Amino acid sequence: MAGRHKYRLKCQTINKQNKLPCKAKGILMKNGKIRCRIHGGFSSGAKTLEGKIKSLKNLRQFKNLNDEEIRTHITNKQRHRENADERNAFNANMRKVWFSKSF
Ligand SMILES: [Zn+2]
Repeated sequence: MAGRHKYRLKCQTINKQNKLPCKAKGILMKNGKIRCRIHGGFSSGAKTLEGKIKSLKNLRQFKNLNDEEIRTHITNKQRHRENADERNAFNANMRKVWFSKSF
């Protein structure tokens, strides 16, 4: 049976046509989601800035924006992620300090 085994990772996407969950077997991706080969299981996403702009242009919310605006959006997003990483590291440090104090 091609990808319909009982003990398999199920793809977590919902079908666009009939709004039912995808029945294919999936692959656990780096971000913790399970995707089949059709729904981007093997893809690691757009790498270059040009590719990212091209992919975002297909979305409705970016349809009327030009390249510059999308580029600023991408860079702002990356900055936000860096800030989140810093915050997480700070929280982990604080947690360590807190537990070392209490025990
Ligand atoms: Zn799928």
